[in-house]
Amino acid sequence: MNFNKHIESLKVYEAGKPIELVVREFGIDPKSVIKLASNENPLGCAPAVSERIREVALSASLYPDDSYFELKAALANLHGVESKNIIIGSGSDQIIEFVIHSKCNEKKGILVAGTTFAMYEIYASHIDAPLFKTPSHHHDLAEFREMVKENAANIGVVFLCVPNNPLGECLGEREVLEFVEFVASVNSEILVVIDGAYSEFAKFKDEKKAVTPASVVSFDNAIFLGTFSKAYGLGGMRVGYGVANPNITSSLHKVRAPFNITTLSLAAAVYACKEQDFITQTLKNNAEQMRIYEEFCRQNGLKFIDSYTNFITIFFEKDTNLICERLLKKGIILRNLKSYGLNAIRITVGRADQNERVLAELAKEL
Ligand SMILES: *Cc1c(COP(=O)(O)O)cnc(C)c1O
Repeated sequence: MNFNKHIESLKVYEAGKPIELVVREFGIDPKSVIKLASNENPLGCAPAVSERIREVALSASLYPDDSYFELKAALANLHGVESKNIIIGSGSDQIIEFVIHSKCNEKKGILVAGTTFAMYEIYASHIDAPLFKTPSHHHDLAEFREMVKENAANIGVVFLCVPNNPLGECLGEREVLEFVEFVASVNSEILVVIDGAYSEFAKFKDEKKAVTPASVVSFDNAIFLGTFSKAYGLGGMRVGYGVANPNITSSLHKVRAPFNITTLSLAAAVYACKEQDFITQTLKNNAEQMRIYEEFCRQNGLKFIDSYTNFITIFFEKDTNLICERLLKKGIILRNLKSYGLNAIRITVGRADQNERVLAELAKEL
């Protein structure tokens, strides 16, 4: 059986290793596995939300309300926008897919930073769309401007990951919005996607960093992406959203299949919007525990990137393949960045007890 040529050569996204794998391969008790590889919330989700999921499980036979009326209203209220500014996806991943499928083709590609979230490139490759990457690992807007000017006719979408995964650095709100205006002045047909998967963490650290969803709705060429997978602790529920001008959301709705999130996910996300104390608790734990990682790096002379997220990227002298392999055997799952060409490890900031164990093991590797 032959499939489309470009499909055969696709790169497959390397998802964070599941707990089940460590249990299977190394016979480790699942309760003692520490999984800090996928930037999930180490505190879980708000108790009222898991309670709600249990209740709604009794209605699993029913399709959800496909207008997502309640969830859009909750998000609109949370972000100070209107329901018509919002589109819901099965994770913000799915909104990335909607955007690429509706703006790109074999001649119109995507522009991304040298090192960024791999899914942009993967969805573009599904439809054989060209890939433009800036030379720097981090987001350098001067490089982005240069490449937009040079390739204006061949770019459909520019992705800014703010803050950036897997590095953790973050652009300022002002410079991002100025860039959006610049892109419109070069070619108003290019859509700028501002992926704010970690924006809650960035705003908590510095209000001027990352982008506020409400600030993009007045633009005709930009969309903000948010998710319930990170700060809200609902990665397993698969709910994300886009916030944009209704001209944009109404077109993207055309490629959305009905019932693209589940009855359980929908209820969980609606409840999660109300549980803002849990978000504050999450952000505080993250900031406190992040300091412990930074201190460890300073004491041991390890280079790290100042992070605006719930993970920290640390560079090592010793081969990170060896470090990650040894920690994995001890039941600690971290994200090796070797495949990005960096001898670095991305560690999701966990709970105090988890971080203590991780740092004790890392210390042995130095
Ligand atoms: C985690 C993540 C997402 C989306 O995750 P979903 O679970 O699909 O909502 C999007 N962008 C970045 C940069 C991420 O790290």
